[in-house]
Amino acid sequence: MNFKDLPEDEAFRSMVHAKLRAALPQDLRERWRLMTTYTPPAVEQRRWIKILSELGWSVPWWPVEYGGTDWTWRQKFIFEEEIHRLNGPEFLWQGSHLVAPIIYTFGTEEQKARFLPVTRTGELMWCQGFSEPNAGSDLVSMRTTARHEGDHYIVSGQKIWTSGAFESDWGFFLVKTDLSVKPQEGVSFLLIDLTSPGVTVRQIPELDGEAHLCEVFLDNVEVPAENLVGEEGKGWSYAKFLLDHERTTSAFIFRIRRELERTKSIGRTHRREDAPVGTLPQFAARLARLEAEVIALEWSVFRVMGEDKSGFPAHQAASILKIRGAELQQTLVELQVDMIGERAIRYYKAGSKDHEVSAEWPEYVPGRSGVMMITRAATIYGGTNEIQKNILARTAFGL
Ligand SMILES: Cc1cc2nc3c(=O)[nH]c(=O)nc-3n(C[C@H](O)[C@H](O)[C@H](O)COP(=O)(O)OP(=O)(O)OC[C@H]3O[C@@H](n4cnc5c(N)ncnc54)[C@H](O)[C@@H]3O)c2cc1C
Repeated sequence: MNFKDLPEDEAFRSMVHAKLRAALPQDLRERWRLMTTYTPPAVEQRRWIKILSELGWSVPWWPVEYGGTDWTWRQKFIFEEEIHRLNGPEFLWQGSHLVAPIIYTFGTEEQKARFLPVTRTGELMWCQGFSEPNAGSDLVSMRTTARHEGDHYIVSGQKIWTSGAFESDWGFFLVKTDLSVKPQEGVSFLLIDLTSPGVTVRQIPELDGEAHLCEVFLDNVEVPAENLVGEEGKGWSYAKFLLDHERTTSAFIFRIRRELERTKSIGRTHRREDAPVGTLPQFAARLARLEAEVIALEWSVFRVMGEDKSGFPAHQAASILKIRGAELQQTLVELQVDMIGERAIRYYKAGSKDHEVSAEWPEYVPGRSGVMMITRAATIYGGTNEIQKNILARTAFGL
């Protein structure tokens, strides 16, 4: 995307590239170059966030007073782009992108002082406890309750699909504190230490052989009342604030750009019918179309970021970017698997580092089919495509 750089951006890009290149450990780069797993293990995240925090760059999106940077939106874009170009691990967004803005916007001074510094350095990892077995798309019908008793809440219920809960320290949870009012008005936002008595985390086996998703059982968990964020009963509006705040993250544009480059590389390297597979008409056309779609999405993200808050209604922009981003993630990995052909079927345990690489089994084969299977989830998490389309129908077309 250098064609979008302003002259002053070029110097910034070179500076950021040089510093990141020097700071990023070779083993992390190599692992993310091969990307045989979809989600960075927390141990690698913690290591990488710590390195970035020593550069002062682990949370450039935050306000400067809490450890962010005064970079322009273009510079923040360039920063993330360069991390992905260098094959740095992706940011797990639960801490830095989701709960932190809630804390620094609605939290108490004590909460800010307690949670922001350790989130910034990666010492404290977060998970998001919103969905429940019968409350996913219809989130407001959640049944986990928090009863206010003196200086604490007693929390009981079950969350599901809680990404990374097994390797997180704390979770931010939506709970019902009042069942007598309209459902949206009875929701509160609680921070819960996952080592508290009564919390049980159970991993869920996934198609790709990993078990990143979890069930979280809360059995009469005593949570200090000081862990309530903002006002009791306002949790629903804080949850909606997350969406408004992070309109472009769910496009996963940097991951998509990296997957496009990987697809092109497989197209150049892998051979079929005595030719690079990417030159065969059935693949060349799909690749060209996908590249055009990725560029279009990049420009859309760029426009939404550059528009600041005023230009695009928040929900519409977030929904469009989420739909396109999720679909592109899926179609890119599907094309990779189709190009590789039957070799892509071989089972590799996700995340395993010691794959045997040979001319017959090149390094781009391991992980492709596992990543393709888990990428089915892209059109589910963060709000399914159907739900995003419902939002668009309502907010953009008044249907
Ligand atoms: C990989 C992954 C990671 C996740 N991580 C987290 C996490 O960290 N924290 C968390 O809280 N949750 C997480 N989730 C849960 C996710 O938010 C929910 O799965 C999602 O909101 C859908 O809810 P559901 O699974 O209950 O499906 P349902 O809501 O039961 O939907 C089932 C189907 O019905 C459709 N549908 C439902 N309602 C409508 C409607 N009104 N109109 C049209 N179609 C409809 C849906 O689109 C879907 O196809 C994760 C999910 C996945 C797959």
